Amino acid sequence: MKQGRIIIVSGPSGVGKGTVLKEVMKDDPSLQFSVSATTRTIRPGEIDGVHYYFIDKPRFEALIANNEMLEHAEYAGNYYGTPEKAVNDALAQGISVILEIEVQGALQVMRRRPDAISIFIAPPSFEELARRLNGRGDTPPEVAAKRLQIAEQECRNATKYQYTIINDTVSAAAARIRAILTAEACRSEYNAIQLEEEE
Ligand code: 5GP
Repeated sequence: MKQGRIIIVSGPSGVGKGTVLKEVMKDDPSLQFSVSATTRTIRPGEIDGVHYYFIDKPRFEALIANNEMLEHAEYAGNYYGTPEKAVNDALAQGISVILEIEVQGALQVMRRRPDAISIFIAPPSFEELARRLNGRGDTPPEVAAKRLQIAEQECRNATKYQYTIINDTVSAAAARIRAILTAEACRSEYNAIQLEEEE
């Protein structure tokens, strides 16, 4: 069976990564989300074990010490990380795993797993990103301002990813990601052709 692929997706807070990825994953059982661990507090509507594993700092540090994290990073004062076992289990079953992670963690995965596909989702403009961040009811203004600042820094890293897509509309952005995944699945290195034995 063909192994799944790791698909790294990053983009600034508020760019709409979650919505675009949900659209990409709709009706596609060959794709799975990696559930990250984080030390940040749970937001209304989030479910432990579904959106994140919400854990405390000592537990997070123990996971790092035991080499159970594929990558980890600190973002806006909290730890975030990808538990490695669940990723490897899915890949072995031929399922590709989407890692929605920030830039520092993404760079770690690119180094450790050179066959990972990396995609950066960018906003159409910073004015539009600020509008989206301020319009999101669950983010206080000072947090939004800090995130906009981080977003600018993050966009400087876009060239480290194999692909950059603009999220102008959800359907167009999702279509671009599906096109990337289709092309990646057709790469010759993953499609050895069985030739007839020569006489
Ligand atoms: P939020 O707190 O808004 O859910 O996420 C904040 C940032 O952390 C986002 O950029 C998100 O992509 C990133 N993030 C979520 N999970 C992980 C993870 O496992 N590792 C890393 N490095 N970043 C993560």
